[in-house]
Amino acid sequence: MIETRIIPLVDDAAERQVAERLSRGELVAVPTETVYGLAADAANGAAVAGIFEAKGRPRFNPLIAHVTGRDMAERYAEVDPLAGRLIERFWPGPLTLVLPLRGDAPLHPLVTAGLPTVALRSAQGSLPRVLAHLGRAVAAPSANRSGRVSPTTAAHVLRTLDGRIDAVADGGAATHGIESTIVQPRGDHVMLLRPGAVTASEIEAAIGLPVRRHDGSTILAPGQMRSHYAPHGRVRLGVSQPDADEHYIAFGPVPDASPSGPRAVFQLSERGDLREAASRLFEALSTFDAPDIDRIAVAPIPMEGLGEAINDRLARAAADR
Ligand code: AMP
Ligand code: MG
Repeated sequence: MIETRIIPLVDDAAERQVAERLSRGELVAVPTETVYGLAADAANGAAVAGIFEAKGRPRFNPLIAHVTGRDMAERYAEVDPLAGRLIERFWPGPLTLVLPLRGDAPLHPLVTAGLPTVALRSAQGSLPRVLAHLGRAVAAPSANRSGRVSPTTAAHVLRTLDGRIDAVADGGAATHGIESTIVQPRGDHVMLLRPGAVTASEIEAAIGLPVRRHDGSTILAPGQMRSHYAPHGRVRLGVSQPDADEHYIAFGPVPDASPSGPRAVFQLSERGDLREAASRLFEALSTFDAPDIDRIAVAPIPMEGLGEAINDRLARAAADR
């Protein structure tokens, strides 16, 4: 347990303090107009892994990244004309846009769960000023333990996260109390991925284009598909002694580097730290996703804390396809 500080967000000095804490990799709950979010520096993999740990999330689903506005959004995503109109009309506000991720985006892959898209939002209130001080985006899902009610006040946040996060920035009550609307602009229409504080008819009225409801027939979040994260080669899990022709994803000390040892080793965490391992997992899978790598073995990962989400992702990588 750590001591969770309460920072009244009353002035510029407080906003700078929150930015400073985020830049050090701390987890800080922040107010938005919808619900409180649990923020971490979106470029810092260990900090983002800490979000999943603190929330007790059993899987690495993609997170919404918060930006100051259009300029910062363009560092992370391709903003086409329709996306630009939605931003113009609804930001700052409770509308999240799923946009193509830029190849050079300074974003840790845990934020997008390895997807080629990123969900971006610019909230009302003090958060954009905090982000302007920070100079980059934060990832921020709702600031509650997984499966619990979304928090609309600092006290609600403390109810489930006290002792698990570094600080709560208290900016009063969130006004909407429901989540942001998530949409994907698609050139001549807008796909509604999650209903929320902005309604479909408000969006249609603003842009003069239809909003379609996603019917679930196409996969939008491939992270939910069992084999989406499968690299080219076959993946064996729970392996303590890899074969000579295997590439090995290690967790903790690597077994005897004998001549018959694995071909190559990607170390998730030498010291067996689950947060570090979580922050390196996507890089491990993509590094070993190559046409000439046929067999991948993965060390056992304990099923505790972040280990549950790591094992969930690994099981998808190993699933039959
Ligand atoms: P929350 O956990 O409340 O922050 O919700 C985040 C929501 O955004 C989840 O429903 C995610 O599936 C969705 N989301 C985040 N990033 C993406 C993305 N790149 N593509 C599709 N959906 C996304
Ligand atoms: Mg939530």
